[in-house]
Amino acid sequence: MAHRPFSVFTQRDLDRIEPLSRLTPAQRFEMKVVSTVLPFRVNQYVIDELIDWSQVPDDPIFQLTFPQRGMLTDAHFDRIAALYQAGADKAEIEAAAHDIRLELNPHPADQMEMNMPRDAAGNRLEGIQHKYRETVLFFPSQGQTCHSYCTFCFRWAQFVGDKALRIAASEARMLHDYLRHHDEVTDLLFTGGDPMVMKTKHLQGYLEPLLAADFDHIQTIRIGTKALSFWPHRFLGADDADDLIRLLERMVKAGKHVALMAHYNHWRELETPAARAAIQRIRATGAVIRAQGPLIAHINDDPAVWARMWQTQVSLGIVPYYFFVERDTGARNYFEVPLARAWQIYREAMQQVSGLARTARGPSMSASPGKVEVQGVAEIAGEKVFVLRFIQGRNPDWVQRPFFARYDEQATWLHHLKPAFGEEKWFWEDEYAALREAKLAIADEGVSLAA
Ligand code: SF4
Repeated sequence: MAHRPFSVFTQRDLDRIEPLSRLTPAQRFEMKVVSTVLPFRVNQYVIDELIDWSQVPDDPIFQLTFPQRGMLTDAHFDRIAALYQAGADKAEIEAAAHDIRLELNPHPADQMEMNMPRDAAGNRLEGIQHKYRETVLFFPSQGQTCHSYCTFCFRWAQFVGDKALRIAASEARMLHDYLRHHDEVTDLLFTGGDPMVMKTKHLQGYLEPLLAADFDHIQTIRIGTKALSFWPHRFLGADDADDLIRLLERMVKAGKHVALMAHYNHWRELETPAARAAIQRIRATGAVIRAQGPLIAHINDDPAVWARMWQTQVSLGIVPYYFFVERDTGARNYFEVPLARAWQIYREAMQQVSGLARTARGPSMSASPGKVEVQGVAEIAGEKVFVLRFIQGRNPDWVQRPFFARYDEQATWLHHLKPAFGEEKWFWEDEYAALREAKLAIADEGVSLAA
């Protein structure tokens, strides 16, 4: 496949994106305002091959990548718009944008306080999250950006620029030391941003040492990525694509289960020749591709979209894995779908596909106590309820225990729900509160030790 250079646009370049010229000046101004607060980045491949410009603004990939007016509340939008209209300087506009971001729950589900481990001296191990016993998440600093940004991204708050190789080397040492001392960990999830924005030589610095005998307990290496959608040429024509393919092969040959946790939102992302060639090339290494993505209003809140996406994935050898509920952060007012509707969409999509495409779990909320799945709506002893269960829990003992919430047609997240049958608390609530308090106390101690 012909080599294609990577070319990207950010907020500064809105006026240079040729197809946007068909929008009105008012629409372009709205984009400028929204992208002042929330990150915006799109590349030429997405513009040329994924967006159907004849359908804009309703086109799902346009909604997925371009800022939309409804993503900010009127008050937030008007505040930034007024500053532009008054000719305010850059610093003033950025200060207002910063204030607004703080109001958007930038780190949902207690990620900062509860998931970051500390060393013996109480220092936070930046870049590592260890929430569930057997799985460690690692955020390499050079992987904290993406080939394009999703408008609904729940990690929107952590996009930072690339960092020096020196920092990467010390990060790799910290990760390896941590894993060496935690033999209960079987799974490492490399995540971001998108670790596939990194050069292969950097990825190799983190991953290749894990093939040594002292990391035999790390059985599975997962890499979270949206590159298969946003920049499949990463696996095809990029300078170091061949090195990346060989690295994946070596890891598989060394006995690791290597899984690309591919983020997909719409079947259209799977249709281009480059996307299909990249999928084939990765599968030929022996790595598995598992697909996951959230249910998002304006993009994929339609059972037919999910059914076609899952069937296409299966036909390409990808395993459908998760159907997430949009997190309670960022522009969620624009994108969220009530749990009751989410379950309906999931169910109707499942009904349309064959058995091999019914492997996606969901609708699943990645909440602070754990991953909670809505299993269904039922009527029990005269009460309409949601049937819930933990797919993952801070305490492994919670996993797979069904529990029940009062039915609420508007609820969009776990914290909107109330226990059913007149119960005052969830079965896990006291234990979770104690775990949380203990973690936060350690966090406070860490702060005072560091001070
Ligand atoms: S690819 Fe993932 S991390 Fe990157 S913007 Fe999209 S949702 Fe966020």
